[in-house]
Amino acid sequence: MLLTITTTHSPATDLGFLLHKHPGRFQSYDLSFGRAHVFYSEASEARCSACLLLDVDPVGIVRGRGAGEGLLAQYVNDRPYAASSFLSVAIAQVLGSALQGRCQVRPDLAQSPIPLEARLDVLPVRGGESFLRAVFEPIGYEVEATRHTLDDRFPEWGDSPYFSVRLRRETTLAELLSHLYVLIPVFDNAKHYYIGPDEMEKLLARGAGWLANHPERETIARRYLKFQPGLYRQALARLVQEEQPAEADGEAESPRPADRVEEVLEGPIRLHDQRIGAVLAAIRATGARRVLDLGCGEGRLLRELINDRQFEEIVGLDVSIRSLEIARDRLKLDRMPEKQAARMKLIHGSLTYRDRRLEGFDAAAVVEVIEHLDPSRLSAFERVLFEHARPGTIVLTTPNREYNATWADVGSDRLRHPDHRFEWSRREFAEWAEGIAGRFGYAVRFQPIGPEDEALGPPTQMGIFQRV
Ligand code: SAH
Repeated sequence: MLLTITTTHSPATDLGFLLHKHPGRFQSYDLSFGRAHVFYSEASEARCSACLLLDVDPVGIVRGRGAGEGLLAQYVNDRPYAASSFLSVAIAQVLGSALQGRCQVRPDLAQSPIPLEARLDVLPVRGGESFLRAVFEPIGYEVEATRHTLDDRFPEWGDSPYFSVRLRRETTLAELLSHLYVLIPVFDNAKHYYIGPDEMEKLLARGAGWLANHPERETIARRYLKFQPGLYRQALARLVQEEQPAEADGEAESPRPADRVEEVLEGPIRLHDQRIGAVLAAIRATGARRVLDLGCGEGRLLRELINDRQFEEIVGLDVSIRSLEIARDRLKLDRMPEKQAARMKLIHGSLTYRDRRLEGFDAAAVVEVIEHLDPSRLSAFERVLFEHARPGTIVLTTPNREYNATWADVGSDRLRHPDHRFEWSRREFAEWAEGIAGRFGYAVRFQPIGPEDEALGPPTQMGIFQRV
């Protein structure tokens, strides 16, 4: 698997500074799936080419435990030579500084567009040359692609899915590497080497500034996050948000654009504020001092909690690093007096995995989170929270689906938000809540939030679970 990056910027050997790799040296790196080698096939003032050669161990990744386990069904596979997510991982690990645009020696150069060419010797392209062009041309690349036949000796066998590809553009090295990092796995049909909640964050981080407006963004996100339909939907929802113009500083308190969809639906009453108020009141009433906000998002409840001296220890958890960063900024934790800031901790984690950091709390809030979980992961969430974390009180809210019929934009057939996996009627919620209360030793009562419709109930439903 070979990636060659060439520049004709003058002096071309500056590529060595940008890549943090000396043009005179052959360097090798051990990665979990094999070895990566970096060397230069030419290095003159006029033209310089750096090669990243990946030596993937095809047997190791089939046999290996952990990262590669179950990755490939057979020992004979194209992984050693076909560019795939392995190459993306190698770019991140071996050329990480360049990918992030860091260059201490020539910081100005790292920020400057220079003439660059990337050559991928064997790229499996699901979708063929037209898809290849549809992906690279909108972001400014000149594309040259040569398709390989299956076997040169038997042309009648026809074409293989493999191409040699050259991409040319004047751009920064970091941008070129970001494009390759995100897009190489998109062409490949095999299961990706990396796939997990973090991948969505990486996609969004590396896709910043170009992916949200890319005409093929849906296909790119879907294929990048292959086999993870849930993550794909979340990523799309976030991409759509990021496409909107950034907020002015002074508006930092206002919700982000995608939240506005829900907010417009929720009407002038600001259902969200009512929800936070109701949850806060329910938690306060229990006398809790150590509290969790699970799926804290951008920290609207956390802000209320920290302003209330009753709460001595507050932990916000979310699976989205981006949301946690926004929460941290909005809470202005770094500008708070030390003693106050010490009461609050933000942690990254998923509610579908047991987490000892969540044990021993008086109360937990789970506000508008469960409808974001895949139904197949709901039972894992139940055990994580009700069996292992086991706080004294759990205050949990979720939409009441029946109420959607009162909103013309949603109607009775649709869900309120693109990332919701389900929305329950009052009866469905009550059955679920009573079931887990019984199973895990809690008592549950219900409270409506927001203006109640006589027939359809309130927009939001809240369950208050008390450990017995
Ligand atoms: N409670 C916040 C945010 C609600 S949006 C509020 O009311 O404003 C749902 C939140 O749940 C998002 O921030 C999302 O990142 C988070 N989330 C989704 N799945 C999660 C999981 N498995 N573990 C933890 N958080 C999750």
